[in-house]
Amino acid sequence: MSNTQLLNYINGDWCRSGAGEHLDIINPATAEVITTMPLSPAAEVGVAVQAAANAFPAWRQTPAGERVQYLFKLKTLLEENLDDVARTLTNECGKTYVEAAGELRRGIENVEVACGIPILMQGAYSEDIARDIDEILIRQPIGVVAAITPFNFPGMIPLWFLPYAIACGNTFILKPSDKTPMTAQKLFALVEQTGIPKGVVNLVNGAKETVDALLDHPAVRAISFVGSTPVAKYVYSRATANGKRAQCQGGAKNPLIVLPDADLQEVARVAADSAFGCAGQRCLAASLAITVGEAKRAFTQMMAEAAVARKVGYGLHEGIEMGPVIRAESKARIEGLIQAGVEEGAKVVVDGRRAPISGYEQGYFIKPTILEDVTPGSQIAQTEIFGPVLGVMHASDVDEAIALVNRHHYGNMACLFTRSGTAARRFRYEAQVGNLGINVGVAAPMAFFPFCGWKESFFGDLHGQGRDAVEFYTEKKVVVERWLKG
Ligand code: NAD
Repeated sequence: MSNTQLLNYINGDWCRSGAGEHLDIINPATAEVITTMPLSPAAEVGVAVQAAANAFPAWRQTPAGERVQYLFKLKTLLEENLDDVARTLTNECGKTYVEAAGELRRGIENVEVACGIPILMQGAYSEDIARDIDEILIRQPIGVVAAITPFNFPGMIPLWFLPYAIACGNTFILKPSDKTPMTAQKLFALVEQTGIPKGVVNLVNGAKETVDALLDHPAVRAISFVGSTPVAKYVYSRATANGKRAQCQGGAKNPLIVLPDADLQEVARVAADSAFGCAGQRCLAASLAITVGEAKRAFTQMMAEAAVARKVGYGLHEGIEMGPVIRAESKARIEGLIQAGVEEGAKVVVDGRRAPISGYEQGYFIKPTILEDVTPGSQIAQTEIFGPVLGVMHASDVDEAIALVNRHHYGNMACLFTRSGTAARRFRYEAQVGNLGINVGVAAPMAFFPFCGWKESFFGDLHGQGRDAVEFYTEKKVVVERWLKG
C-alpha cells in the first residue's frame, strides 16, 4: 500500500480506509502515478452515513444565518488557496492552470449564492384562506444527502452541491471521481478549516461499490450525480427504486449552428475555445458544428487554422492552451472514434492523432482534430467523444439546422451564431436543449440559474445550482392553522 494513499474525511477526522483495493491516480500529462486512492467498502460508507445522520439534528437546528457563516469562511479560504488547489487540479486532471482556476471561480460562485440561503429558503404565508384559517409553507432540510461527481470538474462540481446542501441544513457526503480525487482532499481541508461541526460534511473515496453503498443506504435521502449517461441512468434508477430523491446529470453532444451572417472570424475563435478547451472533456464542449449555406467553407478553414494554432502541452506551463485527455484508454477510444468517422466517410481536415508533445511523450495527448462532411446518423455524430474533436456538418437553412439539433438524443447545450434576431428567437423557442447559447460558445449558466439538461443529458426533476438546488435539498411542508378569535 502506498504511503501517499488518499484519506477519507469522516466525522471531522481524516482516516485511512481499510480498503483491500486501491486505484492509481495518474498525472495524464506525464503518465506518472501521483498517489493512490482507496476503493472504500460499503462498511466505511455506513460509518460516514452514521456520522452524517448523527450530526443532522444539531445542524438543522443551527439558524440558517449561522450555517452560512461557514460558507462565508469557505469562500475566503477558497480564494486564498486558489493557486494551490488549481495546481493540484491541473496535475490530476490535465486541464491548464487557467482552466483550473476558472473552474474554481465558478465553484466559488455557488458558495456565494448558497450564502443567500436565509432568503432562498424562505417559505410562504397566506392569512385568512378561510374563516379564521391561515396557511403556511415551510421548507425543511431532508437529512443526509450525497453527491457523486465526475473527473472533468473535480473542483467546481462538488461545489454545485455541497454549499446548498449544508446551507439548507442537511448533512453531506461526497464521493469524488475515482480518476481525480485529489482536488476534493484540498477542498475538504479548507472546509475543515472553517470549523464546521463534525459530521456535517464527509468525504468517502471509491468507485462502483462505494456508490452502490450510498444508493442502497436507507439513511441517505437524496443523491446528486454528475457523470456519463449510462451511469446517470443507473444511479437514477437505483436511487429512486430505493425511495431517494435523485438529480442525475449525464453526457452530451453539443452542436453549434453557424449562420452565414455571423462574424465568422469571431465564431471560429469562440468555437475553438468551446471544442478544444479542457481538451474537449467538458459536458458543454462543442463537438458538432452545423454550418448553414455559405458559412461552410470559410468557417471550416478558420477552424482549421485555430485548431493547428492551439498550443498543447502540460497545463502548468505558461501559454499552454490545452492539456491531455484523462487516461490512455480515453485517448485510444477517441482515436478509435476518429477512425470510425473516417471509415464512415468523414474527411479529416486537421488530424490530432500521433502528435506527441516534446518532453511529455508518455502523456495522453491528442491535438485538436476536425472532421468535415459528417453525416447526422454516423457514429461520430451520435456518440459523445469527450475529446478535442469537432465534426462539421452542413445544413441548407436554419430550419434544417434546428431539426438536426432536435433529433439528437442528448439535450445538454446548443449554440447559434448569427446577427439575425429572428433566427435567434426561433432557435431559442424551438431548440430542445437545456442550456442555450446565442453568440456564446459555452453556455454555462451562472450559479444563480439552474444547470439544465434535457433528454439523455438529465434524469430527475430539479437541476443543480441556484433555486433548483434549494428546492432539491428541502422538503416542503404546508401547515393549515385555525385559531378561533379569543
Ligand atoms: P462516469 O460516469 O464514468 O463517472 C462519474 C461518477 O460515477 C464517478 O464518481 C465514478 O466513480 C462513478 N461511477 C463510474 N462508473 C460507475 C458505475 N458503474 N456504478 C456506480 N458509479 C460509477 O463519468 P466521468 O468519466 O467521470 O465524467 C465524464 C462524463 O460526465 C461525461 O459523459 C460528461 O458529459 C459528463 N458530465 C456531465 C455534466 C453535466 O452537467 N451534464 C458535467 C460534467 C460531466
